[in-house]
Amino acid sequence: MMDNREEGFSMQDRCVSPEHAAAPLKGRFAPSPTGRMHAGNVFSALVAWLTAKSTGGTIVLRIEDLDKERSKACFIDDVQRDFEKLGLYWDEGPYFQHDRDEAYAAAFEELRRRDLIYPCFCTRADLHAASAPHHGEKLVYPGTCRGLDEEQRVTRSASRTPAQRLVVSDETVSFVDGIQGRYEQNLARDCGDFLVRRSDGAFAYQLAVVVDDAEQGVTSVVRGVDLLCSTPQQMYLQSLLGLGHPAYAHVPLMVAEHDRRLSKRDKDAALDVLLERFGDPRSLIGHIAGITGLAPTCEPAAPEELLDVFDPATLPSTLVDLEQVDWR
Ligand code: GLU
Repeated sequence: MMDNREEGFSMQDRCVSPEHAAAPLKGRFAPSPTGRMHAGNVFSALVAWLTAKSTGGTIVLRIEDLDKERSKACFIDDVQRDFEKLGLYWDEGPYFQHDRDEAYAAAFEELRRRDLIYPCFCTRADLHAASAPHHGEKLVYPGTCRGLDEEQRVTRSASRTPAQRLVVSDETVSFVDGIQGRYEQNLARDCGDFLVRRSDGAFAYQLAVVVDDAEQGVTSVVRGVDLLCSTPQQMYLQSLLGLGHPAYAHVPLMVAEHDRRLSKRDKDAALDVLLERFGDPRSLIGHIAGITGLAPTCEPAAPEELLDVFDPATLPSTLVDLEQVDWR
């Protein structure tokens, strides 16, 4: 699926899609306020910031509080204070997702008008039973509810509120990621018709993020490599909705022992604990920059001070193993 980096390309070339090449980059921080940031979140925000600022661009802050149950007001405050403390300043926002239903609904209705959306009555258990795990944890939706007729839909709606899926076509979406190199996915084979609205009425992440990135004028998306496999779905939606494609760059994940992914539940990698351990934000930023190859040493540094040495070509494309780099 993934090629190695392509030789002779600079990040600048790879990160700016042709339609946006002349304008300054607009990057974004898009935290979900479901916990305190961890080292991996800081790393990807730092690369997003350096990518934008090293080319005279700007940063938008968007709080991704689409999931109303898991998002907490205290984390919305924390994340903003954390960015400020770390010297990761944004130029625009914060924008929020909780008040954007109208915009998501407009995109959803546009797709529905074109007959690209259908109700899905499958339960989680149905989905697991019907689909062999593919590419790690990603399930490929086998199209179970695509062929239901109107009568079957009405009957099933009486006992279960459906989710809504987007019909994908049998085509390969391919792009060159700024860090991971060429990546492609055949949506029909590797993903299947995907959710654009949940059964509780909430719009799905893929739809919301595409609508927001377009409306907020984002031209550079830098985020964790765990979202690489979502990018073809987002690009497909952008094409259907007549929206431009931002340039994408997916940074490697940071892992703890035994390749365990860091998550917001990892208290030892949470920002408050890290700040306490490192003493001050410059030491923490400098350490993250050093162990990830963003800077030649782990000397304390504010993001501003890393602009001179920032060279995206030195970024690793695979996991940054915290055990191997003397993190603790
Ligand atoms: N809100 C997501 C997160 O915090 C990031 C989504 C994105 O960058 O598209 O993991």
